[in-house]
Amino acid sequence: MADRQRHIPFKVDIAGIIDIMGSSLYSRIDTPIRELLQNAHDAIARRRRRELSFQGRIDVRLDPEAGTMSFADDGIGLSAVEAEDYLGTLGIGITGLIKRGQPLPQGAVGGDRSDLIGQFGVGLFSAFMLADRLTVESRREEDAEGIRWSAGAGTEIDLASCVRETPGTTVTLQLKPEYIGLTKDPETIEKAIREYADFLPIPIYLNHGSSRVNVINVAWFDPSPDAESLELALAEYFDESPLDVIPVRVEHPASLAGALYVTPQRVPGFSDLATVMVTVRRMVISRRIQGLLPDWASFLRGCLELHDCSPTASREDLVRNDQFNRVRNTLEILLYEHFEQLADEDPNRMEALINWHRYTFAGAALENRRLRELLRRCYRLPTSQGQLTIDEVLSRSAADPLFEEEAEQVVWYNTDRRQERWVNQLFSGHSAPCVHTFRSFEESLLARIIADDLEAGITCDLRIASPSAPNFATAILGVHDLEEADTEWAEYLRSTESQILVGSFQAKQPVLAFLNERYELARSFEDLRQRGDIPSGFQRLIDSHFRDAPATQNEVILNRNHPLVQRALSQRPGTPLSSVLRLLVINALNSAGASVSAPARETQQEDLDWIAECLWGRDE
Ligand code: ADP
Repeated sequence: MADRQRHIPFKVDIAGIIDIMGSSLYSRIDTPIRELLQNAHDAIARRRRRELSFQGRIDVRLDPEAGTMSFADDGIGLSAVEAEDYLGTLGIGITGLIKRGQPLPQGAVGGDRSDLIGQFGVGLFSAFMLADRLTVESRREEDAEGIRWSAGAGTEIDLASCVRETPGTTVTLQLKPEYIGLTKDPETIEKAIREYADFLPIPIYLNHGSSRVNVINVAWFDPSPDAESLELALAEYFDESPLDVIPVRVEHPASLAGALYVTPQRVPGFSDLATVMVTVRRMVISRRIQGLLPDWASFLRGCLELHDCSPTASREDLVRNDQFNRVRNTLEILLYEHFEQLADEDPNRMEALINWHRYTFAGAALENRRLRELLRRCYRLPTSQGQLTIDEVLSRSAADPLFEEEAEQVVWYNTDRRQERWVNQLFSGHSAPCVHTFRSFEESLLARIIADDLEAGITCDLRIASPSAPNFATAILGVHDLEEADTEWAEYLRSTESQILVGSFQAKQPVLAFLNERYELARSFEDLRQRGDIPSGFQRLIDSHFRDAPATQNEVILNRNHPLVQRALSQRPGTPLSSVLRLLVINALNSAGASVSAPARETQQEDLDWIAECLWGRDE
């Protein structure tokens, strides 16, 4: 076999690369505008290094007749040698050399690496996205004449000297036919300029306009802005009223500056990602950078300047490196501390924020201990004693040592909105409240917080307010000798579809009824199923939901101490009095909020007829 081992050089098809740069590297057509503004900015920043009071300006011009768009700056300019060496060399630029601290070619003007935005030596080529031909005219202040550099989408570059009065650089794009329309659309160009360069500290003018296009100064980049101007600036820029403003200014371990605020827009559940607007050296990288804010903070908006973060080569995102992670971690700690401090200093405001973004806060707290610590102080739940924070609920839920040997605290809760008034009544004479967890995640939140306490050595038990829960009957209802009704009575009351219990209690009611939410839910699904209203996919979901924990029934307690019940129970079912009792049971279930089934409605009718007959005799 022939020896095929050889070393060969990489080959690059320049025309192909330019084509890729122009068509596929960047995702938006306004990218070239950003890149060219960035180059102009860097050139002015380098000139400012030399002439400290130099201000500089950038002029963007549209020429519909010539079909061109141009970017002119009065920055440092390029010498003929620099133009030859750097404009046409992919991957190399003076900006990149300065930023990497590498030696500069002779005669080149340096700069402060922390001022400059460019780096990769590819930005200029993005102009081929919009243009067939690119012309750069430039002059350094100390040079007698300027240089004209011009390239099409091929591999040939034309270089020539040119006359140029003022130092600086003008990049002119001969637009592709499909983009010529942009020359008559200054609004779109203005929007693109503002999209990226709004905060760039150099004024940008469009078509000889008398006022600059970009904002430049916003309060959140001031070293020490006052709270009011910060809030105003955010409200104006983002066009909504912040519910709370979080100034951000950290130097170590990562550099962050700017401001965040709590949006008044409700974030729907967890579907919305936490994103934030990021600038690097004041150039907007993206208005929606992901993965920087903690996942739980999707209710935050704002703008952060991340001086040390690296934009990706396409400059549409940040590189996920150690620096990015440091910023992320610093930010998360800053946010915890901000909200914790707010809870200390202005608890009403913190409560209002939590109330507003309740689902996001509570949902995230299920998985996040530090948020739970915050929420237990500020998250209010409706209870039989009014709105209480979770900590207040816990402090009022000391267990009665008479009944409880194991638990130091017992927290009672009710999940059924229909039972709210009724449960409040039952708890009215008690020192312990009953919490209403009507939103499904609140039950889990309460359980997680109690589990946190358990871990800390406090024994606490969370129990649903229903006769089947340990000690509910004795401690809350004051019922003793609770037992199941005998089979004869259970059978007689079968149409109520409830579990029938009998006990002696102090309250005057003859009958107490407790709803089981799962049971009621299962019943409504069953109704729907019989009417054929449930899509088949849903049926599978419902089945799997109830398979693990089959729905137990509603519960009814007959009060043995009540004279009528006592009399009825001393007889056998079938007497007029038993019919009255059955009516009372259906009525109690009904007023607790249960839906009355068709069989129950039928027995109700029969019972009424039977009682009427006994009272007045049968109609002739
Ligand atoms: P980068 O800006 O990332 O270095 P570019 O391809 O955009 O990459 O530019 C390459 C080099 O060309 C820059 O490093 C800079 O030396 C020079 N250059 C580009 N635009 C200008 C300009 N407007 N004024 C002066 N020099 C420029």
